[in-house]
Amino acid sequence: MSEERSLNFIEEIIENDLNSGKYETLITRFPPEPNGYLHIGHAKAICLNFGLTQKYGGYTNLRFDDTNPVTEKTEYVDSQQHDIKWLGFQWKNELYTSDYFDTLYEYAVTLIKKDLAYVDHSTADEIAALKGTPTEPGSSSPYRNRSIEENLDLFSRMKSGGFEDGACILRAKIDMQSTNMLMRDPIIYRIKHAEHHRTGNKWCIYPMYDFAHGQSDSIENITHSICTLEYVAHRELYDWLIEKLEIFPSKQYEFARLNLSYTVMSKRKLLQLVNDGVVTGWDDPRMPTISGLRRRGYTPESIREFCERIGIAKRENIIELSLLEFCIREHLNKTANRVMAVLDPIKLIITNYPEGKDETLIGENNPEAEDKGGTREIPFSNELWIEREDFMEEPAKKWFRLAPGAMVRLKHAYIVKCEDFKKDEQGNITEIHCSYIPESKSGEDTSGINVKGTIHWVSSKHAKNAEIRIYDRLFTVESPDAEEGDFKDYLNPNSMEIIKQAYIEPYLENADKDSRYQFIRKGYYCVDKDSTPGNLIFNRTVGLKDAWAKTNK
Ligand code: ATP
Ligand code: MG
Repeated sequence: MSEERSLNFIEEIIENDLNSGKYETLITRFPPEPNGYLHIGHAKAICLNFGLTQKYGGYTNLRFDDTNPVTEKTEYVDSQQHDIKWLGFQWKNELYTSDYFDTLYEYAVTLIKKDLAYVDHSTADEIAALKGTPTEPGSSSPYRNRSIEENLDLFSRMKSGGFEDGACILRAKIDMQSTNMLMRDPIIYRIKHAEHHRTGNKWCIYPMYDFAHGQSDSIENITHSICTLEYVAHRELYDWLIEKLEIFPSKQYEFARLNLSYTVMSKRKLLQLVNDGVVTGWDDPRMPTISGLRRRGYTPESIREFCERIGIAKRENIIELSLLEFCIREHLNKTANRVMAVLDPIKLIITNYPEGKDETLIGENNPEAEDKGGTREIPFSNELWIEREDFMEEPAKKWFRLAPGAMVRLKHAYIVKCEDFKKDEQGNITEIHCSYIPESKSGEDTSGINVKGTIHWVSSKHAKNAEIRIYDRLFTVESPDAEEGDFKDYLNPNSMEIIKQAYIEPYLENADKDSRYQFIRKGYYCVDKDSTPGNLIFNRTVGLKDAWAKTNK
């Protein structure tokens, strides 16, 4: 975190609350529903909740908000924990809303006993018809004035399985005339005969979000319950329930959710992409999930830096994907070792370098790192691969790379001069012939020759073959959610390009899974999880420059 920035509005509230002695210990929570993998939006909420207790002391709970048995899975619980830890945070307690089902049931009974809740047999349509509209008050359900005894009996029969799904619900008895639609006798319990990933078949009634969330906060003595702006209207109900139940007065605060351009963020939509096979899984490197970003080569530091830079606001907006890319580029610039890889190879033969001779050159790994990242050995010989685009038969103006008669420096090696080239019948260049200047070796150059261009290369005899996967934005429009029709209509058909025949330095042969490199002049790449020593696979994390901004704006 940068030290100089001013406090955000939540920090201001917390500082006031701690200074005034309202609370001694700050307690926050991160409450994901285990119905999918976490995404970059969740990262913002994680950085905020855990960041606050890192800054002000106290602690943060991880609470799985698992009140919907149908969509929740243990696989998601495990992946969510892994992602939070990977981001660099540690929760104090691992908790589950389902652990509170007994307490929540008792709370509902308390409300019934206070004549503040009732069992309603109306159908969903009937309930909707009586609910009114934002401009017209609602009216009472015929079941609203049941006796407390009758409600207690019915609710206990709901619990013991006496009713089918949807036969009745429990509603809070608040105010059908309220200007806040959520206060018009909201549903707090529903019947669902479904197996729960933790409580099995113990329950066939499940609390609604509004009845579970605030009460769970209160059970855990959460002081500041931070959520996104959609819940502003829920705050009145949040406070009402806590007040009527006379439990710990947790308080809810809302901030603007993160929206990122060229992607979608709801777990439901991401699940569709997975199920429809549009992507290879939740951790596809094109996904905005934390696992996808990790596989793409993002570092926890870069994601935390991104969350810090976007800050905490009270108004919705869309953050440019290029800012996220900027953050990873900055971090990798300082930490990733430089190596050479040729993605679109063409042969370069050095005609005056002895055939069969090998030479070992030394390359500095990272001129931007404090310790320069150490050095590595790079084999050199008379046959190299270079990038096809580094040669032009008829050079343009200001062309400083290879062309007939032109000179360039081979990175970490010698200056070469193009003497000749070969073409196949279709006119494609197949081979470039150069001479080299023996006195021009990098680091001990006495040739006195100045060249403007430096190109990368790999010795063909020593090179290893690698598959390279290059990714682009998943969608062609800035906010697929806001467009007409299905969001999937706006998928980018070219979001993945696979290069089967790239050549890399032998140094990379044993690169660790997840390790990250700068392929000189090409961008930042990481080893994919499917990579093996015999079948190397690299993912492009991000290019060296923001190419998109130039061509598309
Ligand atoms: P989704 O629609 O992606 O499933 P959600 O809000 O239903 O999102 P939860 O698992 O309930 O997902 O969210 C856990 C926490 O993460 C909540 O506190 C929520 O406010 C926060 N969160 C979710 N999405 C974002 C986002 N885009 N930006 C910031 N916080 C978010
Ligand atoms: Mg949710």
